[in-house]
Amino acid sequence: MRLFKSILQRLYPCGKCRVGKAVYLTFDDGPIPEVTPKVLAILDRYGVKATFFMVGENIDKHPDVFEQVIKAGHAIGNHTYNHVKGWKYSTADYIANVQKFPKETKLFRPPYGRTWLWQRMAVKRLGYEIYLWDVLTRDYNPRRTPEAMLKQIQRQTRSGSIINFHDSIKSNERMLAVLPLAIEWLLANGYELKTL
Ligand SMILES: [Zn+2]
Repeated sequence: MRLFKSILQRLYPCGKCRVGKAVYLTFDDGPIPEVTPKVLAILDRYGVKATFFMVGENIDKHPDVFEQVIKAGHAIGNHTYNHVKGWKYSTADYIANVQKFPKETKLFRPPYGRTWLWQRMAVKRLGYEIYLWDVLTRDYNPRRTPEAMLKQIQRQTRSGSIINFHDSIKSNERMLAVLPLAIEWLLANGYELKTL
């Protein structure tokens, strides 16, 4: 697992991430009216910013929720138009789905963190920087408790860490329970929460 992680970090280096005591909260799969506004309220309560890797189709379905994220000053990234699995797509079809994303951004995160190498190369040629994560809360897993997720964040977070959450129906309750605890711990330990 550690080897796998270090390979991932080499594949997706984040040069600017390793500066000071910055940590990057990221939320995948929104915007969703049932969940995203609740995430925004928590972030606002602590005065911190995050990065939302959005599904293009969800932006088109919920433009008002998208606008709330932008107005609150958070960053957004492309998470493809239909949350597609790279390994099931040709590079041409994958790129077409990436390009269907309706908003301007230079940040990209592949759904499931997986693509073929040539798909990654093609995404980069479009001008995107690809960001995965080094702290995966697995908030989508019903067996995960907020306590276990918090412990994992405390154990794995380093300066420059990118923490992965989901503003999705599936993760909703677990993610909303752990998020304030995680932010409080990060701030109390001197981390600065930044956008990618
Ligand atoms: Zn996703």
